[in-house]
Amino acid sequence: MPAPAIERYVKKLPALIVVLCCALAIALFTTWRALHLAEQQQARARLQLESDALAQQIETHFKHQTDSLIRLARRWPLHHAQRDLWNSDAEQLLRDYNSFQAIEWLDRHYRMQWIEPFKGNEAVAGFIYQPSHPNYPVILEAKASGQPHLSNSFQLAQGGLGLVYYIPQYLANGEFDGFLLGIFRVEVLLNDLINILPSNHLNLRFMENNQVLFSAGAAELQAADWSVSSQVSLGGNSNFRLTIYPTRHLLNDATTQLPMVVTTAGSLIALLLCSSLWLAFRGAQRSRQLSYSNRQLHAEISRRQKTEETLKHNQARLKLINDMTDHSHDALFIIGLRPMEVVYLNRTCWQGLGYSEQELRALIQIAPREVMPDAIKWLTELRSMLHQQGNAIFQKRVVHHDGHTVPLEVSVRHLRRMGRDYLICVGRNNSAQLQMAAHLQQLSHQDGLTGLFNRRYFDKTLISEWRRLRREQIPLGLLMLDVDYFKRFNDELGHQAGDDALQQLATALNSCLMREGDCVCRYGGEEFAVILPGADGDRCLQAARRVHEAVAKLGIRHPHTSVESGLLTVSIGAASLVPAPEWSPHDLIRQADLALYRAKTEGRNRSELSDANTTM
Ligand code: GH3
Ligand code: MG
Ligand code: MG
Repeated sequence: MPAPAIERYVKKLPALIVVLCCALAIALFTTWRALHLAEQQQARARLQLESDALAQQIETHFKHQTDSLIRLARRWPLHHAQRDLWNSDAEQLLRDYNSFQAIEWLDRHYRMQWIEPFKGNEAVAGFIYQPSHPNYPVILEAKASGQPHLSNSFQLAQGGLGLVYYIPQYLANGEFDGFLLGIFRVEVLLNDLINILPSNHLNLRFMENNQVLFSAGAAELQAADWSVSSQVSLGGNSNFRLTIYPTRHLLNDATTQLPMVVTTAGSLIALLLCSSLWLAFRGAQRSRQLSYSNRQLHAEISRRQKTEETLKHNQARLKLINDMTDHSHDALFIIGLRPMEVVYLNRTCWQGLGYSEQELRALIQIAPREVMPDAIKWLTELRSMLHQQGNAIFQKRVVHHDGHTVPLEVSVRHLRRMGRDYLICVGRNNSAQLQMAAHLQQLSHQDGLTGLFNRRYFDKTLISEWRRLRREQIPLGLLMLDVDYFKRFNDELGHQAGDDALQQLATALNSCLMREGDCVCRYGGEEFAVILPGADGDRCLQAARRVHEAVAKLGIRHPHTSVESGLLTVSIGAASLVPAPEWSPHDLIRQADLALYRAKTEGRNRSELSDANTTM
């Protein structure tokens, strides 16, 4: 049989055992009841037989007495004329049977005539039966039928309860001549009748029309449902019944222990069978559970072994990752949030900042601003990044143990693990890139030939300065320079010489800057512009004069100049404006240009101040 089918049967076994127990209990009860009822029936039948036998004995015993009385009555043809003989025969009868109260002759007129013994029965002397007497119908019936008849019990005139046996008497010629009466006292008669009975295990009740006339027997009474009755016919009167009640002793004798023995033995066998089945079932169940637990245990052991292997493998991998991160040039660190905590720092973090790992961890925990001056601000930025659930790159500065600042580009990624927020941070020292960027920035603003700021830078700076000074209502000065007859210079000395001259001029112009914020730019070709924040017209002209002096000091010879010195010179147009809403930086350039044009036309190697300012 396949294993699942066995499993199914084993599972159904308790229910089967219960059903079996119930079936056995029902069978046992049915058997016990059948045996018990059979025994009861048998006992009752035996009891009924006993009752019938007793009733028969009573009838027979009474019949002996009535027969002797009938025999006396038959001698009436002799007796009626010989009273002495009657008296003597009656006395004899009274001696034989002591249950008689009296023997009497009642004449044909129902008058009491002879009484034997007279003593004790004086009360009935001369008694005449009247129709009102309870026995009157009995007398009539006996007379009519010619058969003796026993009356029902009634209250005797002598006192006490009595029965009268009426025997009609006839003379030799067959003439009715009254009744021979046998008077019985009930108690004496029944005592006499019943005392002859053999059993002392019975309770007896002698009933007349359901009235108890007499009871006798053992004191112990059995339940009424065990009683049996037999009719007793005395002297043709069938109104009597003998009811007997068996004592427990008799019942015990009548019944056997067989039903109990059978039931007990059956119960024990059933109990044994059910317990054996139950034990077998429990054994099977335990063995199944044991084998199941063994399988579970084996599975658990192999699962744990696998887990341990995986754990070891993961630990090895983790160590590798740890080694790798420690050897990374990038600073790797993990910050746990709520509460804020540094979960991990790689070697680069603490070595790069000149601390031991413990020192750096403690410092970050206690005084983070000593490591990162804007740490608090950064935390705010990180929190806002958390809300956006994104990644971000921050440019930060961290402070080395020796005090110098290290630029750090930190790439931050937000992770949520087991309900907690983590920030995975990768920091890189990007000072080289920053320097490169700054350099590139500078290059984008620098003129390649002269090293001065280029035209783009000039335009941006002029606009920004204009805006700044407009807020403060401070004048912005501008010098526009143009080299005199430079075409000729080039043409005569060559382009390279022209470039050299331009470089020298740039150096000279730079040396003329007196104030911070002054800015010299190559405006284009051989034209230069000098921004002078805060310079009014006078200061512009002073600066222009210094430029002329510096250029002259260069002493660059110009072969075809109209200037007397024969040196390379410049013409300068100066302008200064307090920035106003109605003007723009172009107005300032235009005024400076106009002034430059005037300086050219006025003979060159000179400075002209814009018309808006005073001419030098
Ligand atoms: P002026 O300004 O006095 O009226 O006379 P100019 O000869 O300087 O006139 P213009 O401004 O027209 O000539 C400018 C010349 O500057 C033309 C060009 O040969 C020269 N030049 C412009 N840029 C450079 C440069 O980068 N290198 C050299 N060598 N020459 C340049
Ligand atoms: Mg020019
Ligand atoms: Mg020129």
